[in-house]
Amino acid sequence: MTAPSAQETAATVDAPAELTDGYHLVVDALKMNDVDTIYGVVGIPITDLARLAQAQGIRYIGFRHESNAGHAAAAAGYLTKRPGVALTVSAPGFLNGLVALANATTNCFPMVQISGSSERHLVDLKQGDYEEMDQLAAAQPFVKAAYRVSRVEDIGRGIARALRTAISGRPGGVYLDIPAAVLGSIMDKEEGDKTLSRLVDPSPRQLPAPEAVDRAIEILEGAQRPLVVLGKGAAYAQADERIREFIESTGIPYVPMSMAKGLLPDNHPQSAATARSLALKKADVVMLIGARLNWLLNHGEAPQWNPDAKFIQVDIEPKELDSNQPIAAPLVGDIESVLEALSERTKPGRITAPTAWREELAARSKQNVAKMAERLKADPHPMQFMGALKAVRDVIHEHPETYLVNEGANALDIARNVIDMHVPRHRLDSGTWGVMGIGMGYAIAAAVESGEPVVAVEGDSAFGFSGMELETICRYKLPIVTVIMNNGGVYRGDDINPLESDDDPSPTTLMLQARHDLMIEAFGGKGYRATTPAEVTAALTEALASGGPALIDCAIDPSAGTESGHIAHLNPKGITVGNITPAKK
Ligand code: ADP
Repeated sequence: MTAPSAQETAATVDAPAELTDGYHLVVDALKMNDVDTIYGVVGIPITDLARLAQAQGIRYIGFRHESNAGHAAAAAGYLTKRPGVALTVSAPGFLNGLVALANATTNCFPMVQISGSSERHLVDLKQGDYEEMDQLAAAQPFVKAAYRVSRVEDIGRGIARALRTAISGRPGGVYLDIPAAVLGSIMDKEEGDKTLSRLVDPSPRQLPAPEAVDRAIEILEGAQRPLVVLGKGAAYAQADERIREFIESTGIPYVPMSMAKGLLPDNHPQSAATARSLALKKADVVMLIGARLNWLLNHGEAPQWNPDAKFIQVDIEPKELDSNQPIAAPLVGDIESVLEALSERTKPGRITAPTAWREELAARSKQNVAKMAERLKADPHPMQFMGALKAVRDVIHEHPETYLVNEGANALDIARNVIDMHVPRHRLDSGTWGVMGIGMGYAIAAAVESGEPVVAVEGDSAFGFSGMELETICRYKLPIVTVIMNNGGVYRGDDINPLESDDDPSPTTLMLQARHDLMIEAFGGKGYRATTPAEVTAALTEALASGGPALIDCAIDPSAGTESGHIAHLNPKGITVGNITPAKK
C-alpha cells in the first residue's frame, strides 16, 4: 500500500467549499437591497429564479403578459419610491416588458426590468439560438440606462447599479440583462457573498443653490396672479406636508395634474382645478412643481396660457428646463429640499396671492361646479358616462382609502373630472404618453403594495389590452373591482362601416353585447351587469364590502362618447374625421 499524496490528504481533511450560483446571487442581492416583490412571467431561463425568490421570501406575482407585469412594477415604483422589479424571459418576453419599461421612463417611475437572455456567443455570431436577440442593444433607446452582467461575480454590482440608476435623480426605467449562462454559473459562496453590497443613500437629496431660490422668491413676490401647477413628480416626491405648507402659507391657487389629484384634497379652497382654463390663461407667474410643460399642458403656449407668463420650475432634472418655454427661475433639486429652502429664505408674509385673483378664480369655480352639478343630476336612460361615474364617485367617497386606476378615452376624461381625490398618490392613470393598457397592471400593483381596495375605471377598449390579468387578480384574490364603461366601441359604439356590401364592423366598433362580467366569473370572481347608476352603486358597494375580485360591466349608451375624448385635436386634419365616403364599385 502506498502512502497518500499531500493533495489527497488535503482533499480529505478540508470540508468541501460551499457553492452558490447566479440564481442565488440575484436573489441575495435583491433581498439585501430591500426588494420584497417581483412582478413577472416565467419561462426559460428565469423560472428557477422566480421559484428561488419565492422560496427566499420575496413575493413573486406571476402575470399572463409581460407588459402588464412591467406596468405593475412601474406603478409599484411610483407608489413606494423604491424601484419596482419586473422579471421577463428572453426576446419576445423581454420585448413585451420593454413597452412598460419605456412607459416607466417616460413617466419618471423607478423600475428595473431584469431579463434572462440567450447565449452570448450564439447571439453575437447570429447563429440562431432559442429566442435569440441582442436585448441590451434593443433596450438602449427606450430606457434611462441598460446594463449587462457577463460574469457571475458581477451580479451584485449589476443589481446595485440598476437599482441606484432607477431611483436616483430623475427616476426611470433600467434594463438589466442576465444571460442564461451567468444565472447557471457556480462560484464559491464565501467569495460570492463578498460581491454583494447594500446601497447607501440610493436617492440622495439634491439641494437647490441659494441664489436660485432667491431668484424664484423675487418673482413670486412681484406676482399679481400666481399659480402653482402640481404634477405627478410632486406626488412621487412624498413631500406632502411641505407642499401643503407652501400652498397654504402663500395662499397661491394651484391646479393639480391628474395624478397629483389628492395631494391636497380636491375640495381644498385653493384648488383652481374647476377654474383651470381661466387660471392658465391669466396667471402671470406659474410655478411648476414636478410637472412638465409637455402636451398635457399645451406646451405652455397661448392661447391656453398667458403669453407673458413667467415660469418658475421645480424639477430634479436640469435638462427639463427650457424644454418648451423659457424658465425665468429654474429650481433644480428635489421637491422636499427646494420647498424647505424656499420656506427658510422667504421673509414671512412676503409671498401672498392677491385677494382679487383668488376671488376671481373662486367665482369661476363656483359657476363651473354649479354647471357640473346640473349635468350630474340628469339620469337619462340608456346610462351615460356621467351617471355611471357619479355613482362610482359617491361610493368611493365612502371609502377614501380606495385607489383609483383610470384609463380609456371618454372613461378617462370624464372620470378625471367627476371623481375627486382626497388622499395623495391614490390615482393612477394613462400618464405622460396617454397610453392604454396600464389598467390591470397598475391595479394589481396598487392592491399588492398597499393591501387597500382598488377600483379600476376602464373604457371597454382600454380594458382589452390587459383583460386577461383578471385571472391573475382572481389567482391572488386581490381586492380589485374593475368597472367597465361599456359603450361598445373605441370612443363610441355606433360607428358604421359605410360599405353596404361589407358586414365587417367599423374600425372603432367593439361588441356592445359583450358581457365582461362573465369573464371574471370564469376565474371565480364576482361579475355584475349594471344598466342604471343605482345598479352601479349597489354593485360597487357590495363588491367593495366583499374585499374580493369583482367586475362591473356598465351598459353605457353606444352613442355616448366623443372621438378621442378631449384630445380630438391631435388627430391629423388630412381628411375631416367623420366625413369619409365609401369607395364606388
Ligand atoms: P405631470 O404629467 O403630472 O404633469 P410629469 O411626469 O410631466 O408630471 O412631470 C414630473 C416631473 O417631476 C419630471 O420632470 C421629473 O423630473 C420631476 N420629478 C420627479 N421626482 C422629483 C423629485 N423628487 N423632485 C423634483 N422633481 C421630481
